[in-house]
Amino acid sequence: MNYQLLIYIYLFIVGISIGSFLNVCIYRIPRDESIAFPPSRCPNCGRKLTFWDLIPIFSFLFLKGKCRYCGEKINLRYPIVEILSACLFIGFYLIFGISYFYFKFVLLFSALLVVFFVDLSEKIIPDLISIPFTLIGIILSTFETFIPKLTTLIWQNANLYSSISSLSKVKSQVGLLSNNNNKLPIINSLLGIAIGYFILLLIAYLGKYFLKKEAMGGGDVKLAGMLGSFLGWKLNCISLYFSFLIGGSVAIVLLIIKKKNLKDQIAFGPAIILGALLSILYGEKFLQLIVP
Ligand SMILES: [Zn+2]
Repeated sequence: MNYQLLIYIYLFIVGISIGSFLNVCIYRIPRDESIAFPPSRCPNCGRKLTFWDLIPIFSFLFLKGKCRYCGEKINLRYPIVEILSACLFIGFYLIFGISYFYFKFVLLFSALLVVFFVDLSEKIIPDLISIPFTLIGIILSTFETFIPKLTTLIWQNANLYSSISSLSKVKSQVGLLSNNNNKLPIINSLLGIAIGYFILLLIAYLGKYFLKKEAMGGGDVKLAGMLGSFLGWKLNCISLYFSFLIGGSVAIVLLIIKKKNLKDQIAFGPAIILGALLSILYGEKFLQLIVP
């Protein structure tokens, strides 16, 4: 049996299972419900769901997207989040191998997946996620500061057994991220938080002054701080720059096709999250382009 294939299957199963838990968070956190209790129920008929109703993706397919008991359509968000979570677990493995940065960014983006869908559906970014994760970012950068070896550890590389060149690719990617963290990751992390808060508060203030309306919610500000604590100040600036490009383009398109008007609130969280993903994937290359 192909050893690599086993790893992909394993990461897929872990990914969809975590995705299933993230779905519970997306539904319950904005409703102030416990994420551990009670067991899952159909939101329409209230029937308790059994093991067979809760297998990620597959239950949705077998049940043809409908509740077994009342026939109500199951929100498409459930399988979508499970698939995205599997993509996250496998995709980051292809980039980072099984390394310190793999765990760090899989953790961050699992939380961001929850924020993404909560903000889309409820137009809020829960403090319950952004504040604890800002602290987790600070704790991780403290480890990186005092145990620098951590950031260069690679336990398992995605294509180690098929090609050596991809191993060096993973090493350089991890190397770039840890170099970006300078000599003192903890300082970089704190600066990242400060710059995230500063940029978004500035926009919130300017928006209020010129447009006479709420341009940026407090949730967006705290989300930018949370990203800063994981990304450091440079990547956070690039991340926010990408976010404004994405958020601005989406807002213009929504205005043109008249799905929204100028008075509507448009969730900015998803744009911030996509910006963060782009900055992790391409931020270093982008930085080399503008600062040769
Ligand atoms: Zn039902």
